[in-house]
Amino acid sequence: MIVGQVGHVGQVRRVALASVVSGLSRTLWIVALLSVTVGAIQLVSVADEITIGKQAQLKVRKETPQVKDPAAQAYVTRIGRRLAAHAAAEQYPFSFSIANYREVNAFALPGGPVWVNRGAIQAAGTESELAGVLAHEIAHISQRHAAQQLSNAMVTTLGLNLLNALLGNAGGAAAANIAARYVASGAFLKFSRDDEQEADRVGVRIMTRAGWDPHGMIELMESIREQEKRDPSSVEIFFSNHPSPKDRLALLAHVVPSRRSGTRDSAEFQAIRAKLRTLPPARSMIKK
Ligand SMILES: [Zn+2]
Repeated sequence: MIVGQVGHVGQVRRVALASVVSGLSRTLWIVALLSVTVGAIQLVSVADEITIGKQAQLKVRKETPQVKDPAAQAYVTRIGRRLAAHAAAEQYPFSFSIANYREVNAFALPGGPVWVNRGAIQAAGTESELAGVLAHEIAHISQRHAAQQLSNAMVTTLGLNLLNALLGNAGGAAAANIAARYVASGAFLKFSRDDEQEADRVGVRIMTRAGWDPHGMIELMESIREQEKRDPSSVEIFFSNHPSPKDRLALLAHVVPSRRSGTRDSAEFQAIRAKLRTLPPARSMIKK
C-alpha cells in the first residue's frame, strides 16, 4: 500500500477553490483541490517511503560499482551515522555506501540510503567537508524531499485514479505503479532548487549539532570549484544535479556563523583519503 493519509490542506485556498469549482461534481472538486494544493499534501507514509527506498537501493546496488575497502566503508558509515543521529526526523534506516566513481557526486534515496562517490571523498580537503556532503544528503531524507516529489507526481499523473486510491478502491495499485516507475526513472536524484537550499540549511544544522565545524560546508564549495579548474568533467554531473557553488555559498554566508566551532579535520580522514588514492583508478559515471 503506497498511499498514506492526506495531510494539511490550506483553509484559505480551500474556500477560494470551492467557489471556482462549484459547478463541478464533488469528485472533480476533490481532484482539483488536490492538484492546486499539491505542495501542501503528503500522500506517502514513512513506511511506504522506506519500502520505495529499499527497491531503489536494490536497483542502484546492481548498477553501481562499490568501493569495497572495509576501512573506508566503516569510516564513512560511522561519520554518516553520527550525523544522522542529529537529524530531527523519523527514525529512518540510514545506510552509507561509497560508489567507485571518479566524479564528485553524492545522492540520497528515499527513506535512508545515502551514496557518496569516491571522487567526492578525494575532492574534500577535510573531514568537515565530507561531513558537509553527507549532512546535505541526510537532510534530503529527513526533510522527506523524495516523498513530497512522489506525492506531487501521484497527484499530477493519477487524477481520478488517485481519488480512488484515497477512497480505498483499486487505485492503490495504480499508485504503486507510479512509485515503481519513479524508482526506475531515477527521478529521485534531482531535487528542486527550494529542496536543495533546505538541504544546505538543514545540513549545516545537522553537522553543527553532531560536532563538526559548519565552515566545512563552505570549504567544500571551494574545493569543488578548485576541482572544476583541475578537472572540469569530474564535476559536470554534480553541477547538473545541484545549484552552482556560487549560489550555495551565498546562502551559506547567511546560515553559517562566522565564528568557527567543532571538529575540522581528523588524521583518520586523511588516512582514508590517502588509502583511496592507492586503490586501482575509480570508474567514470560518464558512459562513453
Ligand atoms: Zn541536494
